[in-house]
Amino acid sequence: MKNTITFGGISAQPGHKGTGWTPVPGTDLALPVTVINGEKEGKTVLITSAIHGCEYPSIEAVFELAEGLDPKEISGQIVIVNPVNVEAFINRRPYIVPADGKNLNRLFPPDPLGSPGDKLAYTLAEEFIKKADFHIDTHGGDIPETQPSYVYYPGISEDKEALAISEEAASYILHAKYMLKSRATNHAYTYSAMVGVPSLELELGECTRWSRQEVDDYIENILNILKFLKVYPGEAVKRPADQEITTITEGVYLDADYSGRWYPLVGRDDRIVKGQKIGYIKDLFGNVLVEYFAEYDAEILMVVATLAIKKGDPIIAYGR
Ligand SMILES: [Zn+2]
Repeated sequence: MKNTITFGGISAQPGHKGTGWTPVPGTDLALPVTVINGEKEGKTVLITSAIHGCEYPSIEAVFELAEGLDPKEISGQIVIVNPVNVEAFINRRPYIVPADGKNLNRLFPPDPLGSPGDKLAYTLAEEFIKKADFHIDTHGGDIPETQPSYVYYPGISEDKEALAISEEAASYILHAKYMLKSRATNHAYTYSAMVGVPSLELELGECTRWSRQEVDDYIENILNILKFLKVYPGEAVKRPADQEITTITEGVYLDADYSGRWYPLVGRDDRIVKGQKIGYIKDLFGNVLVEYFAEYDAEILMVVATLAIKKGDPIIAYGR
């Protein structure tokens, strides 16, 4: 017989769910948590959403899983934190934690003595990530971003087994155009792998929109990973070999050099060639401030669609 389990102070008896708020010490912030304690033994899976507060298909999919998953069907434990960045979700703020203007998905490994976003990252790491056997972090295009769907898997960790499990898990993502091997070390899911917890970051949806189809695709992706981990009943389906998907192992993530007007010259599904002009920024009087050119032949991963652009914000991403 299993025991009652507790994550972030939220408990659930075997075969039951527990919900509540985990405070972030030293801030006014708190994390909304659902703990699903399956009746049978198994792995602990952490699912997080809304680290970026406006990536709606992911957020709605994870809300529906938290509400809909039946603990009696679960082997192990599923711990859901959604929305991680509550203030960004409620206030419709892309990218950042409103309390300090920092991008929460760039604050790992976290500084426990930093500003509210750092402390939020620290609580997520200590109370949840480090206690999991697998971490699924869910994203999509933020308010200004158009992009195809893809799955990131971590590429950097001393723990080679965690990297191998992550990569294998990525091949069970059914709805994705690309598989991307990440060289980042400061994202939530890349941190997970670095502390020995296999992980994925899913990307589906874009530009404030969300639809039933996107949410259903998202849920199917997550349930298939839960089946792969033997936490949810049923046989995991491996992505068919003939299903077109490109593995991308290096990328360029361009941020705006100036505030002003942004003119992309490529679209989200384009393929670009080395030297191609891909966009430019003008000031408010019509002067071109900077032009951007492709470093190599690549697939477009994200294009910001808004005319307005702020220095330091993302404008375009591509990879090969
Ligand atoms: Zn995101």
